[in-house]
Amino acid sequence: MLLYDSSTRQKVELPPPPGPIRVYVCGPTVYQRIHIGNARPFVVSMWMRQWFAERGYEVKLVENITDINDKIYEAAARQKMGSAELAEQAAQWYIDDTDELGLGRPDVEPRATEVIPEIVALIGELIERGLAYESRGDVYFRVPAYPGYGSLSGAQPDDMIAQEPSDLKEDPRDFALWKATKAHEDTEWDSPWGAGRPGWHIECSAMAEKHLGPEFEIHGGGLDLRFPHHENELAQSRGAGRPFARLWAHNGMLQLSEEKMSKSVGNIVSLREVLDTYGREAILVFFLGGHYRGPLDYSDEAMKAARTVADDFRNARLVIPTGAPVRDWDAFVSELDDDFNTPAALALMHEWRAAGRVDLLMRAMLLFGLPLPLHPDAPQEVMDLADARSAARAVRDFEEADRLRAEIEALGWEMQDMPDGGFRLVARL
Ligand SMILES: [Zn+2]
Repeated sequence: MLLYDSSTRQKVELPPPPGPIRVYVCGPTVYQRIHIGNARPFVVSMWMRQWFAERGYEVKLVENITDINDKIYEAAARQKMGSAELAEQAAQWYIDDTDELGLGRPDVEPRATEVIPEIVALIGELIERGLAYESRGDVYFRVPAYPGYGSLSGAQPDDMIAQEPSDLKEDPRDFALWKATKAHEDTEWDSPWGAGRPGWHIECSAMAEKHLGPEFEIHGGGLDLRFPHHENELAQSRGAGRPFARLWAHNGMLQLSEEKMSKSVGNIVSLREVLDTYGREAILVFFLGGHYRGPLDYSDEAMKAARTVADDFRNARLVIPTGAPVRDWDAFVSELDDDFNTPAALALMHEWRAAGRVDLLMRAMLLFGLPLPLHPDAPQEVMDLADARSAARAVRDFEEADRLRAEIEALGWEMQDMPDGGFRLVARL
């Protein structure tokens, strides 16, 4: 199986099954309902886990919830509520909303607040190695002391803009590992450098190692996190002597009117809103239609189109098999094994639907969390009407036959005349 590595910028062959494949994905920072763009890494990683399992891999997916972050303190202060309370509320919204996608949950969903001792220990190691220094209660990563900095994102140290300007830093490129408590912050933890709380980047280094070990196969997340967040995670963990992620799989951004959807720009649509308006199936079909690595344009038109496709798939049993040759399951496997090409897989699903190959379509849909509803047996009443219609047709009473067909349809069933002269009854779902 091939997967694109955004660090080496080429497709990389994964080790053969059973692997293992251990995956860490950066989840949301929780301070309000997540937007539809935040749902993309969740959906992509849940699908990939499903596909790895289908292909015989032992897979473990860890997707964190960032519950300590500057944005949480700021939002809590604006709303005049406790930051821990806001983070807890917003984490529950995230779980409720993503649950509704019907894809299950990651194997572990750690929170930053659960790994404070691990974070403090990791920062201690970095200080010992000369890669970090304390400065009036803050601790910073010493970027110039780590020669590999920039290897993931391709950014050159001297080109980098200052990360969070502060006169406590030795170098403007240095970034915070630990931050002393500030006036507007209402939570803090003890550390050898005084009361404070961790920086965002070190949280992920600690959570990944706690649940996957010092080395794992794939690190995922949105492309907007590659720099500085992922570059910093990598520097911290490699700097502390861990091999860390072997491959970086970044998903492209969701765009609204060709502009990246982000809370700071204000052009956001919440997942909750999209679920309520279009339903989970339309959301999943919408995501399937874009390659995970590319940008994807969100619009009402795109969602309506996705909903139509979802409806067509759900009613695939209404299509009379054509007997036309179609590509088989192996073609589907090849598309997904080649860097998880879901648009190509979706094209195959359309082909199968058009040909009435419900068997293949069902198998594919199940993998993406879109099970076709079970096909009910027609009730006796419908069966009787169908027999009566056949009898009417046999004596060429077409008026009566049409009337009976309408009656069958009014009951939610379609009577289809088959090429061999018989008929079948299919439910409209
Ligand atoms: Zn992260």
